[in-house]
Amino acid sequence: MRKIHEDGAAHNLMQRTQFVFRLGNRSTQNKSKFSIAVALFYLPALFLVRFGCLHAGPQTTPSPNVDQISAIINELCTQMQMSQDVHVTVAPNDRMVSVERVSDVGMFIMCFDERFLADLDSDELRAAIAHELGHVWIFSHHPYLQTEALANEVAMRAVTRESLEKVYKKLWTHLGTSGNLDELLGPDVVQARR
Ligand SMILES: [Zn+2]
Repeated sequence: MRKIHEDGAAHNLMQRTQFVFRLGNRSTQNKSKFSIAVALFYLPALFLVRFGCLHAGPQTTPSPNVDQISAIINELCTQMQMSQDVHVTVAPNDRMVSVERVSDVGMFIMCFDERFLADLDSDELRAAIAHELGHVWIFSHHPYLQTEALANEVAMRAVTRESLEKVYKKLWTHLGTSGNLDELLGPDVVQARR
């Protein structure tokens, strides 16, 4: 993931800005940019696949669809007092989940990898969305302060630390990496009291 605050890469904010969950302490950042064009290219294909699945028979564990995810985004935006225009796509994403600002139209696109999405329960999905909305909130309020910790702090206005913890664990399993939860989420107060 791009760590804008460390790179000092303010220029990234001028065009498209992309935020994703941090991969961990190891410098495994994939610098390749996810392109909206790619997302839009895959979207019709996904609809076709889903359409095909409907006719092939019921799926045992259907992933949430774009409409369901959009409904959660809207609900969380209300809860987090955000009014930004955030859309969602489900497409191959080597970062598993990310959000990108499309500057020329003033909207944000959140992209979920389908395999990662299928692995999330409803709490984890809400937490992952809240995290990405955290990045959107930061962009609108403090664009030069993009950090994972701040995105999580904003997310925790609407979701629990525990649910974010679970998302990170699943993310790291998918990516084959790990990271420091206390750094990303702040100290676990509940654990510390035990
Ligand atoms: Zn992030």
